[in-house]
Amino acid sequence: MEMEIKVPVCTSCGKEITPREKSTHFLCPNCGEEVIWRCESCRVLGVTYKCPKCGWEGP
Ligand SMILES: [Zn+2]
Ligand SMILES: [Zn+2]
Repeated sequence: MEMEIKVPVCTSCGKEITPREKSTHFLCPNCGEEVIWRCESCRVLGVTYKCPKCGWEGP
């Protein structure tokens, strides 16, 4: 049986997030339905993210 492993993708830059980096994820503060993923570099650089569901943009 195959196990499906979902690799999270950074919402800001679209990069795959490895479990080793200090990434973060949280629910969209606006709609609360989408999980926003941010990779380590986007966190450090303060790149804005955009919710794919409601279009909310945040730092
Ligand atoms: Zn990123
Ligand atoms: Zn949203």
